[in-house]
Amino acid sequence: MTSELAELVLAFEDKSPEEILREAARRYPGRLTFATGFGVEGCVLIDFVGRHGLGIDLFTLDTGVLFEETYELWRRLEARYGLTIRAVRPPRTIEEQGADEGAALWTRNPDRCCELRKVQPLRAELAKFDAWITAVRRDQTAERANARIFEQDGKFGLVKVNPLVGWTTKDVWNYMVRNDVPYNPLHDQGYPSIGCRPCTSPVQAGEDPRAGRWRGEEKKECGLHVLPSFDAPARARNG
Ligand code: SF4
Repeated sequence: MTSELAELVLAFEDKSPEEILREAARRYPGRLTFATGFGVEGCVLIDFVGRHGLGIDLFTLDTGVLFEETYELWRRLEARYGLTIRAVRPPRTIEEQGADEGAALWTRNPDRCCELRKVQPLRAELAKFDAWITAVRRDQTAERANARIFEQDGKFGLVKVNPLVGWTTKDVWNYMVRNDVPYNPLHDQGYPSIGCRPCTSPVQAGEDPRAGRWRGEEKKECGLHVLPSFDAPARARNG
C-alpha cells in the first residue's frame, strides 16, 4: 500500500460511506467507477450516489443469465434515482459460449465460466479507470475479512474503494428500510446472496448466507474480490 493510501485508510476508517464516496470522487474525477451486482449493499451505494448527486460512473456485469428480478431492479433503480447503470457484457453471448465451450459451462467448470463472463469483462472495463468502488463488507466471507476502505487492488491494478467494509448486515438493512431503497424481491424468498440464475439457490435457516452460491461446489467467490491487498492485516472491524 502506498503511504498515500495508508494515510487515507487512517483518516477515513470512522467516516460515513457518503464521506468516503465524496473523497473518492474528489480524488479520481472522471476516473472512478462503481461496479454493482445489485446486492443490498450495492443498492445502498447507488442510493448514496443518486441521493447526493455524486456523479460517479456506474456499471454492472451483465452475464446474460441474471434473474429477471435483477433486471427489473436494475430498471427500478435507474428510474428512482435518474441514473444510468451501464451494462458491461462479455464478448460472447451464452449461446456463442455454448457453441465454443459446450452448453451450460457453469455446470462443468464454473471457474472458467466466471472468468469468461465476469473477470475478463471486468478487467477490460476497469482498465479505463484509476479507482473502483465495491460493495464488499468484511463480515461477508473469510476472503473479505481484511478489506480496507482504500486499498491497492492487486488483481486489477487500480485503487479499490470499499465504503461499506465496516457495516454489518443489520446496518445495511436498517439503512435500506429507513430510506426505502429498492431491493431485489428474491431477498424475501430465501436468497440472501444473488448472482447468476444457474448458480444461485435459496438457503435454509441457519445456513451461511452464501451457501446458495454455487451450491455443492467449493467455490464461494466469482474471482472478483479474492486476492488480498499487498499489505499488512487490516485494522479491527468497526461493525
Ligand atoms: Fe457462469 Fe455461474 Fe459464474 Fe455466472 S456465476 S458467470 S453462470 S459460473
